[in-house]
This record gives sequence, structure tokens and C-alpha cells, in this order.
Amino acid sequence: MTPLRCFPLALLFWFTALTTVASASRAKPLFDKPKLIVLIVVDQLRSDQLTQNMALFKKGGFKKLMEEGSYIPFAEYPLLQNLTCPGHALIVSGSTPAHNKIPLNEWFSFSEKKVIPCTFDPQHGHSPKNFLGSTIGDELRLNNSKAKVVSLALKDRSAIMLGGHSALAAYWFHVDKNLWVTSSYYQNVPLHLREVRRPMIPEKNTELPFEPQQLRKALPKKAFDASKSFNRTLKWGTKDGLSHPIAGKAVFDFAEFLIEQYELGTDEVTDFLALSLSNHDYGGHLFGPHAPETLEILLNEDEQLAGFLKGLKKRIGEKSFWVILTADHGVAPLVETALTVQIPAGRIDLKSAINVVEDQLKKKLALSRKLDPFNTDAYLFKS
Ligand SMILES: [Zn+2]
Repeated sequence: MTPLRCFPLALLFWFTALTTVASASRAKPLFDKPKLIVLIVVDQLRSDQLTQNMALFKKGGFKKLMEEGSYIPFAEYPLLQNLTCPGHALIVSGSTPAHNKIPLNEWFSFSEKKVIPCTFDPQHGHSPKNFLGSTIGDELRLNNSKAKVVSLALKDRSAIMLGGHSALAAYWFHVDKNLWVTSSYYQNVPLHLREVRRPMIPEKNTELPFEPQQLRKALPKKAFDASKSFNRTLKWGTKDGLSHPIAGKAVFDFAEFLIEQYELGTDEVTDFLALSLSNHDYGGHLFGPHAPETLEILLNEDEQLAGFLKGLKKRIGEKSFWVILTADHGVAPLVETALTVQIPAGRIDLKSAINVVEDQLKKKLALSRKLDPFNTDAYLFKS
């Protein structure tokens, strides 16, 4: 990718229960305690995707949060290179990798002698074990153990980081099984909630036409040439299939199901639901941030968000839940897009780059043989 600067992230807080208290009595708290706090992370959402497309959004989705909430369009995370795992860990903990020990999505483990994902746990497969510190959910549970914390995302690392250590369950989408799954780390998950199939999930290998439906509704006729793009179908059961707008709908649908199953927001103890729209990131990687397909995905998310917020209002009551919407990171423009406006950009051949680094390391370490990642002695300087 190019060294172009990613746009900062948008951070939206919508505190529906936050009201003026100037005339309130001194004994009255500043605001009513919410029954449910909902954190929505849009994976790879650039701040300018919201500002540039404001006119295309409907009333109850992104626009509602931007106009009625506390909107911080120029927020930035103090990380050198933000990625999904460190980004989600930071959002819920406020801590950086120096403290939370989640610097990347995966890294080489000398004890395991292999590259491990950030959620690697030899006992449970996946868990928050590698994350050090506490999260919003952990603090709510510490404050009152009756608080219920549940998280979900298409990606395992996003769901697990958002749930923290003490979530009742963190769910992610298992592409091969075509099910929502969780880890044995979460001990008290009832049997019927360990692997879940929801109606929103298509059958495996379903060919999904990707059409500019929302764009047609939002843009004046002939505003874009649909024949030049959208000429494809996405297959469910593949990573690319998760870019289809139906994947975003599946996340919101499952979130509603979990609210119902775990009875979130039903009593006076504040619960926490965190979800991440990984589909936005899959689509961004497949099409690029400036592609009409990515805008189609965003407009679908806007509509899905509006429906989700409407459902929350009906179920929990408008003054009883808070919503936070943010992103884990942005994204650079595609090389091809940058080149159209003469910004220097290009792609690197990773294999040759690794060979160059290895050659230099061999010289530096005076090694004649190929570097062996399992032989840690090879990396030790003797001086
Ligand atoms: Zn991400």
C-alpha cells in the first residue's frame, strides 16, 4: 500500500438519556443510568465516508447519530499502524499496545514456534487471553456482576476484543460452518446458543448478485454508470461473500437475536452489547474506499443501522440506551485511485522484499544458512 495518510476516524456518541440538568435538584444524578450501552464499530470506516455522503443518508441511521449525538469527526488513535485487533482492543480499553499487548492481528510466538492470531489460546482455540487490562464491559461487570456483556462480529478477533475478559459470550461468524459460533472460554453459554443459525444467513455457495440498489434510490438517474461496475455476483461461504450487504444485515439481525436471548437492557443494571461490522472492511479491501460498490455497502449499513436503532427504541425505550459508533481504523486509497491524480503510489512485491531483508540479516548476523524461525539462537547478537 502507499504511504498515504489514512483519514482520521469518526467517533459518535449518542447519549439519548443525556438531558439538561440546570434546573434539576442537587440530589438528582446528571443523567439517568442507561439500561443498555451499544457500541457499534464499523471496520475500516473512514471519517470522510460519513461527511462526504451525508446527503445520501436516511433519517434514522448515521445522520441521526451525527446530528443528534456528540460527533467527533477528527478523532485519531495514537497508534503507528492500526489494524483490526489492536483497534478493537483500544476502543474498549483506551489502552495502546504498549500496555494491552495487542500490537497486531497476528505475530510470531517463540513459545508456540509459529505465527499465532491475536486471539490464540492453546486451551480454548480463541479467547481474550493475550489482551492485558480491562475493557468497558469488564468494568461494568466489576461494578456489578449482574451486568450482562455480549459481543459479536463477523471476525473472531473483533468480537473477542470487544467482549473483554468477562463477557458472557463473544460470537463470530464461522464461514465454513456457516454459523455464528463462540469459544469454550465463555463457560456459561447455554447449549442452544453455542452455535447459531439465523434466518438471515444464506445457504452456503449461494450466488448473491451485487447490485447498486441503494445507489439507485439515493442518486439521481444516470449519476453513475452502473455498467462499469457491479458486474459480479458474490458467493456466500467465501471471504468475498462477506462483502455483500446481506452480511451487514446478518450482523444486525444476530445482534437483535442476542439482545432477546440474553435479555439485555431489561433491568436496572447497565448491560453492554458491542458489535463490529466486519463486512465493511471485507468490502473495502475488495473494492477500495472510493469505489461505488463501497458506497453501496455504506448506504446499506445506513439503512440497517436505522432499522436496528428503531428496534432498540421500541424494545428498550429511547431514553434507556446509549449508542457509540466508531471505527477501528481507516484505509488508504487504492494505488490506482492515487495515480489518477498523480500522487506517487505503487505496490511492492512482498516476496522480493522479504528476500532483501533476509539477505541483509544474514550479512549482519554472519550467517551462511537460511534463517530458521524456530531456532531462536540465530537471532541473538553475541556482543
Ligand atoms: Zn479492521
